[in-house]
Amino acid sequence: MFICHTDAYHSDERRNLPNHILLLSIFDKMTTDYLIIGQGICGTFLSWNLIKAGKKVIVIDQPQPFSSSKVASGIINPVTGRRVVSTWMIDELMSFAWNAYNEIGNKIGEKVIEQKNIIVFPPSQQMVDAHAKRIHEENSFVNQISSDQFQDSFSFLFKTFEITPVYLVYLYPLLHGWRKKLIEQQFLLEEEFQMEQLHISAQNIQYKNIIAEKIFFCDGVNTFKNYFWKNLPYIYNKGQALIADIPALPQDKIYKYGNITFTPWYDDLCWVGSSYENEFETELPTDEFKQSVTLSLKNVLKIPFTVIDHFASLRPAALERRPFVGLHPHCPAMGILNGMGTKGCSLAPYFADELAQHVINNNPLTPLVDVKRFSGMLAR
Ligand SMILES: Cc1cc2nc3c(=O)[nH]c(=O)nc-3n(C[C@H](O)[C@H](O)[C@H](O)COP(=O)(O)OP(=O)(O)OC[C@H]3O[C@@H](n4cnc5c(N)ncnc54)[C@H](O)[C@@H]3O)c2cc1C
Repeated sequence: MFICHTDAYHSDERRNLPNHILLLSIFDKMTTDYLIIGQGICGTFLSWNLIKAGKKVIVIDQPQPFSSSKVASGIINPVTGRRVVSTWMIDELMSFAWNAYNEIGNKIGEKVIEQKNIIVFPPSQQMVDAHAKRIHEENSFVNQISSDQFQDSFSFLFKTFEITPVYLVYLYPLLHGWRKKLIEQQFLLEEEFQMEQLHISAQNIQYKNIIAEKIFFCDGVNTFKNYFWKNLPYIYNKGQALIADIPALPQDKIYKYGNITFTPWYDDLCWVGSSYENEFETELPTDEFKQSVTLSLKNVLKIPFTVIDHFASLRPAALERRPFVGLHPHCPAMGILNGMGTKGCSLAPYFADELAQHVINNNPLTPLVDVKRFSGMLAR
């Protein structure tokens, strides 16, 4: 039987964790409404929504240079897959995301979202047909465009298409800007969260000297190592990307050539990626990826380029491609906003708001994302 109490966790010998004893005087304790673990895109939007609603929040985040949110290119693409179909809930997600990023951008004084359409060079007649088929559909997001202006930069055999509208999120200024605001208000603890220091009771949670009504796990792939969430049907999806200097490539667009996407990056550089690896031997960047993408760039580009950097990260993903949102079905003092997979930039703002409204006003969650759908698995 599942016991919603950290005694169950602390006494779980399989994990061989030390039993932490809190030795606190009443004067040491700090109370807050909510404790959030992680300040990637999920922790950023959840803390933003809760604070906006007047709640007191503490975020614990230990910075990691290659977290998923830090290496993501930041694209919100309305279409997906070989059949170029509209992505799930895209109309609601895109309009919500545009407003949410602009609102938080205004708060931190940074531009964090921009429209930058994707120019697509299909690598086969099959992909040309898939794009062409969408053009005449209502709200298809796909246009055919003249390829003349790209002849000097890219080698391509087929027609060119444009995906529009596409949004590009600038994650670096967003994460840093919001972190600065959290620090100014003394809402951020920059340290590693240690599960063995968490104590849960029927009324609240206590972490070291912090007492909160609820704790939310937004710590990316680390959430799935957690005793309470480890049975969720998650998957780690590794993504690698190169940073290249391609001075002659105009920065006003995103380009997609087969599996390679060229996205404007900071300092006039270009993000080139990525891989989607469900099986991998190392979490680190591999020579194999670097060599194969560098070779593709030599074939695809007619203009000079230099590879400057190479990084890898793990996307926290859900096996059935719908995020994990809500309160633990057997332990409601614990919540989760996670499993965003390849689409954190569009999903996180929308579902962070939904989760905040659920917790504060008891508004319902979208059933397809509510983590209660895994009540059986989470009971084990
Ligand atoms: C190469 C690549 C390209 C991508 N491109 C896109 C894209 O174009 N568009 C898109 O929508 N999505 C993209 N994604 C996916 C997107 O990055 C993820 O969906 C999203 O970033 C997940 O955010 P998160 O907040 O859940 O996790 P994370 O970004 O991993 O954030 C977790 C945070 O928790 C902190 N943390 C973890 N453990 C602890 C601990 N024990 N104590 C304290 N802090 C802790 C970490 O430091 C981090 O700050 C891409 C991902 C990759 C890898």
